[in-house]
Amino acid sequence: MVEGLDAGADDFISKPINPAVLLARLKAGSRSIAVNRRLRDIARLDPLAGSMNRRSFHERFSMEWDRASRYGRALSCAMIDLDFFKRINDTHGHAAGDAVLQGIARLLETCCRASDVLARYGGEEYCVLVTETDEPGATAWAERTRLAITEARIPFAEQTLSVTASFGVAARLSDVANPEALVALADQALSVAKETGRNRVVAFSALDDGPHPSNPSATHAPLGNVLARDVMAPAVYCPSHRDSIRCVADLLLQLRLNAAPVANDDGHLLGVITENDLLAVITSASRLNAPVGQFMRTTNVVQYDERTPAMEILRFLSRASVPRIVVVKGSHPTGVISRATLLRWLRNWLETQQSGEESVSETPTSSRRLGMMQAANPAIERLQAFCGNLAVSDTEFAPCAIAEATRLEGLAHDILTQCQGLDWVVAG
Ligand code: GH3
Ligand code: MG
Ligand code: MG
Repeated sequence: MVEGLDAGADDFISKPINPAVLLARLKAGSRSIAVNRRLRDIARLDPLAGSMNRRSFHERFSMEWDRASRYGRALSCAMIDLDFFKRINDTHGHAAGDAVLQGIARLLETCCRASDVLARYGGEEYCVLVTETDEPGATAWAERTRLAITEARIPFAEQTLSVTASFGVAARLSDVANPEALVALADQALSVAKETGRNRVVAFSALDDGPHPSNPSATHAPLGNVLARDVMAPAVYCPSHRDSIRCVADLLLQLRLNAAPVANDDGHLLGVITENDLLAVITSASRLNAPVGQFMRTTNVVQYDERTPAMEILRFLSRASVPRIVVVKGSHPTGVISRATLLRWLRNWLETQQSGEESVSETPTSSRRLGMMQAANPAIERLQAFCGNLAVSDTEFAPCAIAEATRLEGLAHDILTQCQGLDWVVAG
């Protein structure tokens, strides 16, 4: 008996067998199996939604990750967040919110294949590992699932409730280090889905990438009371969707812009046309006269009202890998803010501080004038030196002029930053 139990047996009975004792012991064994199963489920599953919880999801994720890496298989991750879910709780009560969370979990189960992995990731967030599927495939899955959620009617008490959801999708590529990094990419795409209006799917690869600061929670005191319109680079060029590729390419080049907001006939923001979009279409002369609206790939533009605190935009750009946001008044584009815009603004602000001035946003006109002169001087010096070089230089003219013009453009922008908020600039 000792040897048997030591070897792992749960029970031991001696011959001769008494059938009643055997049956009782089998029942006891079965109870203990049921308790163990229940404990295992409690540890693995989310008590409300009945889907995997975050811990067991990550265990499974790590197995799927190893398998996909080893055999070179595709693996995608979709982060799903219910839209305005708080309103459901506020309007119908917490029990109604719970019913929706359960209903959506059941619906997601039906949308997933048996090999996919579904988890309740947080309050009203779910995460799905779409196995053996690349990003376009997972995006198509997400789009079907998003529609199914939109159409679902979840019964609660005497009524039915409906909800929408936003999706962020990303796929495991060679530069994604680990499962956590993949979830972070899907999360960034989800942030953009939220910021661009909710009830939509955004794929990570659709975001024009750029490095983002590792500490998005860092506070930038100078931005304390500053609004988007104070820091934005004014939208100096905003093509109409009907403008030709040729015309837009010419102006982007002339103005040395890498992107511009595109408006419809009423001047409302439609999207952003980027150098990348143009590069993709400038393949034949016949395309040059085509309208730019047709080739604009960025239509999920993140837009903020002019009066949005600049700090909120900094936080967003730190979190998401979008290169820029468009600032709007009503729905008319008035400016653009990229990481470079914020960096330049903060640098200018710090320089003003260093020279004993007050913050740019609160600076009186006389100090602004001084600030502008300080910003203008280096531009004037550069321009004079450039003109002098032109007279004597025998090097090739064009590359030298372009490089110099780029530097001057940066300096001119510094002057513009000092001007922002002054009414006469708008008039001028
Ligand atoms: P958004 O579209 O930006 O995601 O808006 P939202 O309202 O969905 O997001 P927010 O983060 O403001 O609110 C999430 C809400 O989810 C708040 C919280 O009370 C609710 N919630 C989280 N867990 C549960 C839960 O287990 N049951 C219920 N009923 N509500 C929950
Ligand atoms: Mg949420
Ligand atoms: Mg939500």
